[in-house]
Amino acid sequence: MLIVPEALIASLVTPEDAFRAVEACFAAMARGEAYNFPVVREALGEGRQYGFKSGLDRAGGQLGVKAGGYFPGNAAKGLINHQSSVFLFDPDTGRPEAMVGGNLLTALRTAAASAIAIDRLARPEAHVLGIVGAGHQAGFQLRAAARVRRFERVIAWNLHPDMLPRLGAVAAELGLPFEAVDLPRLREADVIVTITSSPAASLLAEHVSPGTHLSCMGTDTVGKQEVEPALVAGASVFTDEVAQSVTIGEAQHAVGQGLLDASAIVPLGEVLTSAHPGRRSAEEITLFDGTGVGLQDLAVAAVAVQRARERGLGIEVGV
Ligand code: NAD
Repeated sequence: MLIVPEALIASLVTPEDAFRAVEACFAAMARGEAYNFPVVREALGEGRQYGFKSGLDRAGGQLGVKAGGYFPGNAAKGLINHQSSVFLFDPDTGRPEAMVGGNLLTALRTAAASAIAIDRLARPEAHVLGIVGAGHQAGFQLRAAARVRRFERVIAWNLHPDMLPRLGAVAAELGLPFEAVDLPRLREADVIVTITSSPAASLLAEHVSPGTHLSCMGTDTVGKQEVEPALVAGASVFTDEVAQSVTIGEAQHAVGQGLLDASAIVPLGEVLTSAHPGRRSAEEITLFDGTGVGLQDLAVAAVAVQRARERGLGIEVGV
């Protein structure tokens, strides 16, 4: 079994690698070649969450699990609050193949999913990027979005405005003008990424212009919510995994309130395989409910393992 520690990941997996790997995994899901197992997520007390995301990709030859969670006391210890590890197994024998640090991979695969949705669903001429959120994931989201559209500026809102300058620094690195705005000014955006751990909607339907694409990436647990259910119900909704979208994703609220039928939610993989046309008009609001699936984690971890083996990196242990 190969151990690929967290510290090696940045040198092994690029945002482009993550984009390609997640695209392939969403397409394999849509073709019925890969599926996610039910998510396990438990509250450990004192705000700590722990769980398992797992799946099997027959075509990609991946079987495994990401174990991890949210530990709010970590920041005070100099660690990021989200901690995870990915375990890969041989799908034929069940033998362990690799253990891979999952923190950077989570950020890369989450940003990749959002960017794939923007790439496929946003209007081609989109030039203003809006971001709701400014935590650990937000910078990754900004970088990934900037790879798929020629944005001219970035506007952002966060409940805690003191966190926004760090996101502004990422925009500056990309050469993009950055402005902190109030929520109504998000109507200027052609694409909006939401990436917060909010328990209640911040972004309302009145804050979003016709034709906007939204990638709602923060809601991955029962009880989290970033956008108004009416906004979800009025949009064409796409997701990574419908079963997760309606239970732990942003759509849990619109579906729970009877505003949206689960059958109307389209797997993004169907757009990638051309089974669904995606955006149908310039006025339509498209919304990607990115809940984060285990297969995404396996796909990027497999890239890390392949690269590490090619370069003789990582630690081989007998099991
Ligand atoms: P973080 O702790 O670094 O940042 C949290 C963000 O949420 C900040 O912008 C903060 O200001 C905001 N926030 C906190 N409390 C809020 C409240 N009550 N109302 C509104 N905003 C609030 O977290 P992060 O690592 O950037 O992750 C952000 C979210 O994305 C989390 O909910 C995380 O679970 C989720 N996430 C989803 C996926 C996925 O695949 N969909 C993957 C990773 C993380």
